[in-house]
Amino acid sequence: MSTIFEKIIKREIPAEILHEDEICIAIRDVNPQAPVHALVIPKKVISRIANAREDDSETIGHLLLIAGKVARSEKLDDGFRIVINNGTDGGETVPHLHVHVLGGRQMKWPPG
Ligand code: AMP
Repeated sequence: MSTIFEKIIKREIPAEILHEDEICIAIRDVNPQAPVHALVIPKKVISRIANAREDDSETIGHLLLIAGKVARSEKLDDGFRIVINNGTDGGETVPHLHVHVLGGRQMKWPPG
């Protein structure tokens, strides 16, 4: 069964696309936790960072580069936060790796 993110990548369900290339797609989160909340999602399905393989390293590096690019294009010049939730305790709800980019407000530390 495909994840909601695979359906977005295949254009089976709509999303606001902020960036797309051969490796990933970046969309606006439907339930934003900050004034800017984007998700950078690899087209290759990697369930979570704990299940990533050695040969996924280029893809994972690319996700971080695009996260920075999205932050720049969203004008998060005062800073932003990148989050990857992994597994139940990490708060993961979609089993398809994605990088959250959050900004536009002061972030708290430690995170909840
Ligand atoms: P996580 O809890 O880290 O697995 O993050 C999943 C994220 O996907 C949540 O922030 C959701 O709000 C977001 N999300 C779920 N469905 C959609 C959708 N159809 N379009 C955009 N974002 C979504």
